[in-house]
Amino acid sequence: MGASKNAPPSGGRFGLVVRGDLDLTLGQLAGFGPKSVAKLESRGVTSLLDLLTLFPNRYERTLFYPRGAHLEAERPEHIVFRGVVTSVRKPQRGSRQPLEVIVSCDGERVVLVWFHIPGSRFADGFQRGRALEVAGAVDWSRSLGRIVHPRTRWVGEEPAGPTSVRWEPIYPAVEGVAAKRLRAAIVEAFGLVEDALVDVVPPTSLADLQLGTIRDALAALHAIGERDASDHEPACARARTRIVYEELYTLQRTFASQRMLSRATARAPQCARRAVGRSLARDLPFALTSDQRNTLSMLADGLSRPVAMRCLLQGDVGSGKTIVALLLAAIALESGVQVALLAPTEVLARQHFDTARKLYGDRGMAVRYLGGSLSSAERRSVSDSLASDEPMLVIGTHALCSTDVTFANLGFVIIDEQHKFGVDQREDLLAKGVDPHLLAMTATPIPRSLAHAVFGDLDLAVLRERPPGREPVRTYLRDRGSRPALYEWIADTVVAKGQQAFIVFPAIEDDARGFRPLLAGSEELANGWLRGCRVGVLHGQMGGEDKLAVMKRFAEGALDVLCATTVVEVGVDVSNATVMVIESAEAFGLSQLHQLRGRVGRGHVLSRCVLVCGDGASASARDRLQFFESTDDGFELAERDLVVRGPGEFLGARQSGAAEFRFADLVRDAELLARARFDAYLEVFGDLGASGVGAVSKR
Ligand code: ADP
Ligand code: MG
Repeated sequence: MGASKNAPPSGGRFGLVVRGDLDLTLGQLAGFGPKSVAKLESRGVTSLLDLLTLFPNRYERTLFYPRGAHLEAERPEHIVFRGVVTSVRKPQRGSRQPLEVIVSCDGERVVLVWFHIPGSRFADGFQRGRALEVAGAVDWSRSLGRIVHPRTRWVGEEPAGPTSVRWEPIYPAVEGVAAKRLRAAIVEAFGLVEDALVDVVPPTSLADLQLGTIRDALAALHAIGERDASDHEPACARARTRIVYEELYTLQRTFASQRMLSRATARAPQCARRAVGRSLARDLPFALTSDQRNTLSMLADGLSRPVAMRCLLQGDVGSGKTIVALLLAAIALESGVQVALLAPTEVLARQHFDTARKLYGDRGMAVRYLGGSLSSAERRSVSDSLASDEPMLVIGTHALCSTDVTFANLGFVIIDEQHKFGVDQREDLLAKGVDPHLLAMTATPIPRSLAHAVFGDLDLAVLRERPPGREPVRTYLRDRGSRPALYEWIADTVVAKGQQAFIVFPAIEDDARGFRPLLAGSEELANGWLRGCRVGVLHGQMGGEDKLAVMKRFAEGALDVLCATTVVEVGVDVSNATVMVIESAEAFGLSQLHQLRGRVGRGHVLSRCVLVCGDGASASARDRLQFFESTDDGFELAERDLVVRGPGEFLGARQSGAAEFRFADLVRDAELLARARFDAYLEVFGDLGASGVGAVSKR
């Protein structure tokens, strides 16, 4: 069961549901041969239902003019009219001239132009006197109206009916299937399934939101049936909302059902030895903040229950998540289970390993390290002890997820910097135990709307308070021209006082983007302004051992300045570092800048972050950097980042898989999401008290 419960909720993705055992294969469509079917299949359209969820990119307003109407009377961008070919100019063979056809519609003449002629016989069809229907965007700026690459259809001589307006859906092109055929197939598919479509969302919600059935929504989207043309836009908007709502609801319902299932089986280990946490906390050189204490007690409650805890702990950089996690790990160890702590880099994993060993001291709790830089013998030794029943905390990188690492008794999984991992990695690790507890941590504050969509199966906890005695980091935006003064100040003041500095570059070597590269940049500094300082270099292409060695020297104070790429972004903790310089700062997103800034300001000395903006930065990039200079509230930055970059970018390529919606846009549809979540949990649990989901609310 572990595997199925932990499977990513892809089953919950949006899809139309039909009653009965209707034949839904594409082969059913009249006039749709195996070739067209194959073309559609290669585009992922494999059934009638897929066809119906192939949504128009846009609509063209089409006007039918009767004979005698003036094309010029109303100059719509897109028109359809009937007319007669009056003259044709065919290009010379092999020339690059366009094909030009003049069509007249009761005295009004329009030129049709083709730069690329669809086939050799195409041009021959244009015979003087032939009647045709033309659709396209007219350029009225010349003496004759002109349409480049119009759509045309031969028609009989009969006059068109009265003037009418219609909206015609324009679908994304499917290679090898003509637009008209596709359109006809969609209309046909709709006719075949419309009576069997099932509304999976509760009728009360639909009524509340004033949304119609899924059938009506599809009819409106595909512009099927007789409709009032003036109602087109509102009808489309309602239909879209209906479908987005269904998509969001379906996913949230999967989350709710997973939770219900975990509740029903109740097989998680009950880790209730809370005393050890209290005693370790007493021995810390500092007092926990009240936020840390409250979060700890809430999460310790979760660990003690037989229903697996699944929690996302968000806390700004430096809010002290690590200690919370390690105290919880101690409770789990004392309760006799194995704990895995997954970190995105070896540097960070090592650092946690050292912190854990220091924290647990000589209390006899086993802590092991498992990372890519271990020899295979060392690795085997760790795997062997994990395969025995022995309670231990293993801290490592994604090596922990690999299939040759098995746990005899994995009861608690902690994922640090969880946004660096994909959902699959999280689920792979969880699947190594029987319904283990999960604590995922992130310093990238995720706006609530997004968290619910992507991590709807997780409860949210937030550490807002920062440990006392920390002054906020001061941020300065500077141009390239300030670099001499900046680096002189670092050499003469910062380093002279015995403090340390990070200098971050967006790329290791020169790349097409023209940002300042690390290797050349650090060399220039070491031989120039920073001559006399001990300068180290750190980047992702170095070997694991080398990276660790450099990091260690910096942490011990054997280096004054660390020039690095964003490998220092995650979690690295050196409290004597008081300056963070970011070169070509326009290369970074707000959340990433915030992570970088969080690497300083960890001690009791005033820290500074200096953004060096490249000369080529766009106005919007400068705006973004100015906004960053003005606030250090991670949530505020994240909200803005989300709006500017969109959810996919925001979450990073890996995680975006989880946030991929076909129809919903998490910025625009945030409210609808909250509503869908509420409705789904209510439907599954009957009442929300029973769901244990505090965060669900009906807006
Ligand atoms: P993050 O939440 O970014 O992972 P860390 O857990 O790395 O932050 O904590 C940052 C630093 O703050 C560490 O050096 C840690 O020891 C220290 N710290 C954590 N909690 C407190 C506290 N309550 N008081 C003082 N220092 C603390
Ligand atoms: Mg951390």
